[in-house]
Amino acid sequence: MGFSTDAIHAGQIPDQTTGAVITPIHLTSTYVQDELGKHKGYEYGRTHNYTREALEKNITVLEKGKYGIAFASGLAATHALMSLFKAGDHIIVSSNVYGGTYRLFEQNLTDFGLEFSWVDTSDGKNIESTIKGNTRMIFVETPTNPMLVLTDLEVVAEISKKNNLISVCDNTFMSPYFQNPLEWGIDLVLHSTTKYINGHSDTLGGIIVTNKDDVLDRIRYIQNAAGGIPSPFDCWLSLRSTKTLAVRMQKHDENARTFADFLVKSNAAKKVIYPGLKSHPQHDLAIKQMRGFGGMVSADFGTIEEAKQVLNNVKIFALAESLGGVESLIGHPASMTHASVPKEEREKFGLTDSLVRFSVGIEDVEDLIADIEQALK
Ligand SMILES: *Cc1c(COP(=O)(O)O)cnc(C)c1O
Repeated sequence: MGFSTDAIHAGQIPDQTTGAVITPIHLTSTYVQDELGKHKGYEYGRTHNYTREALEKNITVLEKGKYGIAFASGLAATHALMSLFKAGDHIIVSSNVYGGTYRLFEQNLTDFGLEFSWVDTSDGKNIESTIKGNTRMIFVETPTNPMLVLTDLEVVAEISKKNNLISVCDNTFMSPYFQNPLEWGIDLVLHSTTKYINGHSDTLGGIIVTNKDDVLDRIRYIQNAAGGIPSPFDCWLSLRSTKTLAVRMQKHDENARTFADFLVKSNAAKKVIYPGLKSHPQHDLAIKQMRGFGGMVSADFGTIEEAKQVLNNVKIFALAESLGGVESLIGHPASMTHASVPKEEREKFGLTDSLVRFSVGIEDVEDLIADIEQALK
């Protein structure tokens, strides 16, 4: 099936009691048992929920995987993922991942004896030279937030297989519509469904998709044992959203291309970063492993004053954390999403105080461009 057909139908059989076309929200904490030891496969709400299962099946198909395990947020999914490891294990991570991932790993999980190396994974040689006897996983985000640096997923998968490591890709920025890491041989895909998958800025969620049975068993166990599950209503909202993921992503991508071209031509920004621009150093890799370039654009305005001018004077772009919703957002990574990353660390990969990040929404792009023009005046 094509992506849109799967998005609308996968995991969503009409309700058997009434024929309702839309998957119901199963609000129940427990389930009646027919007799001692005999039930319908549903015992307790943390362990099983019909709406959650429908969402898991749906996104699993979109990510071309076998299993999906849903969580209350992207970070709850990342935290559950880390339960695959134990004290003494070493993990290689892309150097400018989502700030919350950095905070969880560096400021929390190191207390439990996990060791992290922050590496520019855009070059496979950096990964290989960091592998040690106790290395267990390579965790990449591509494109990264907010520098939009790409990592070659095929290369990561090869290195992982050769060294018997688990490979993980945070695919939040591309969504399954533009990139399917499992198809390049990556073991696990992680999403903050809060962003493009839900797409309407009205709920948080996370999911892990994999083909590996042993990983499924462990993460399914943790989903129940630690309980970081999404509510049935949140699952329902995300299911409502995947139905329009294809059309939304097409429009995000189309708008972002036009918007990035405008920024380049306007000369207001010192540097414009967007994988769809020929000037992006990994434009060819973007074409190879992605089916579009997405809706995220970053621009360095040279000075903090100029950046503030834009940030404080836009009227349509909302100054807010997060991304991937239908409405356009503008953010200042240095003081917002990446405030927990020390300044020296940030500047090493170009995340300066004058960098502004745009989550280009699906409004009329002429209005978005006019908004920046008036803010610059
Ligand atoms: C937002 C985000 C996360 C964290 O997800 P939450 O749903 O906010 O917990 C992880 N990775 C990326 C790339 C993100 O953008």
